[in-house]
Amino acid sequence: MVESVPLSWRLQRQRYNLIGTRCATCDERFFPPRNFCPSCRRKGKIEPFQFSGRGSVESFTVIRVAPSGFESQTPYAVGIIKLDEGTSISGQIVGDVTRVEMGKRVRPVFRRIREDGKEGVIHYGVKWALEG
Ligand SMILES: [Zn+2]
Repeated sequence: MVESVPLSWRLQRQRYNLIGTRCATCDERFFPPRNFCPSCRRKGKIEPFQFSGRGSVESFTVIRVAPSGFESQTPYAVGIIKLDEGTSISGQIVGDVTRVEMGKRVRPVFRRIREDGKEGVIHYGVKWALEG
């Protein structure tokens, strides 16, 4: 019987700390965390896995007209980051949008994601910064 992933991982910690899971049977890595390996099925042994967050830009889009809450940040790039440890994750790429290119190296940075207007609730999470 596979142990279920603690709820706390599925909520905030997975975004903040990049904790995913890994199948110890076949070494496949999952982010967001999964508690079931589609390859090994019942033979899969799932354990926590800490991603470094380092990787490269797999694809990206420059956002010039932002949704509510993000207006002050335009233009900005969002993309798919191919992590060194073997899976991909979507997120914002901070910095000069003209320097973002496919294949460029990125590292994770802990940044403010957005602010919820009147209540002033600030959401933090992982974004990516270009290396070099
Ligand atoms: Zn597996």
